[in-house]
Amino acid sequence: MGIRFKQKCSKCKQNYVTVSRGQRFPLCYDCQKPEMQGEIKDPKIKKLLDIPEEFYKKNSFLRNIKVSYFRYGSLTDKQIEAFKKTVKKLKEGDSKDNQPPEPVEQL
Ligand SMILES: [Zn+2]
Repeated sequence: MGIRFKQKCSKCKQNYVTVSRGQRFPLCYDCQKPEMQGEIKDPKIKKLLDIPEEFYKKNSFLRNIKVSYFRYGSLTDKQIEAFKKTVKKLKEGDSKDNQPPEPVEQL
C-alpha cells in the first residue's frame, strides 16, 4: 500500500484525509463531493464507479479517479486498473475487520 499518513484537508483545513506520500493537496470527502457528481455516460465506467459510498469516504485515491472522470470525460486503462485494485483491497480489508479469521484446525 505504500506509506500512508493523515493530513488536514487543504481546502477546509478541518477534516483529516488519509493520503499517500507525494499527494500535495489532499481533499476530504466533503470538499470533493460536489466534484464527484454528474452523469456518467460510459456504461463501463458507470459500473466501475458504482461502489459503496463508504469507499469514497475512506479512500482519496478513489475520489480522485471519480473526479478525473468528470473533469476529463474519460479514464485511462491504468486508472481503471488501479481503481479496481484499490476497491478489491478495500473489500478484503473490510471483511478482515468485520469477521474474525476462521480458526484453523490442526489435526
Ligand atoms: Zn475539506
